[in-house]
This record gives sequence, structure tokens and C-alpha cells, in this order.
Amino acid sequence: MPIGYCSKCSRIWSGNRCPVHGDPLETVGRLTISGGTPFLDDVPLARRGPDPFGEAIAFLNLAGFREGDLIQVTGMEGTLNGVRVIFIESVRASMLEGAS
Ligand SMILES: [Zn+2]
Repeated sequence: MPIGYCSKCSRIWSGNRCPVHGDPLETVGRLTISGGTPFLDDVPLARRGPDPFGEAIAFLNLAGFREGDLIQVTGMEGTLNGVRVIFIESVRASMLEGAS
């Protein structure tokens, strides 16, 4: 079961949608970097552009995040070379950080 964050009720929930609002949840997970690709748990993170994964790493580093951080992202799901990815639009520290 995925974990997500609802910005309307400022809560973390299990699942894809907020059970209160029905809104899609922001994706929450741990950042790892492998082979030049950043992952949120097992889902690759990308940015639109000629170097989607390299630009995603630069975007995350610029925002102050490093491998092992718990983060929550907003973005659009899509595919790159047939692989499901998240095109991130914003990132922030996960609300789960204090609870872990
Ligand atoms: Zn909600």
C-alpha cells in the first residue's frame, strides 16, 4: 500500500487518495540514487528535459535533499522508455520524518 500526503488535511494516509477529501495524495518515500537515477522507494524520479534523471538529481540536490532522506513530491506520473516514472514538480521534507 503506497503512502501519501494530503495537503488539504495536512495528514499522511495509506493509499492513493485521501479518504476524507478524495484528492490524489502526494507521494511519500525514501530517496535513493542508483546508477545516476534518483528513486522514490522503487519509482524513478525525472524532470522534463534532455537529461531527465540527471536534472532530477540536480533539482533534488538544489532543494537540499540527499540519498536516504524521507521526502514527499508532487508531480505527474508518466513513462520514460516504457518505465513508469514521476515527473517531479516540487519536493519537500516528509511529514513522516519526525515519526520514524
Ligand atoms: Zn485530505
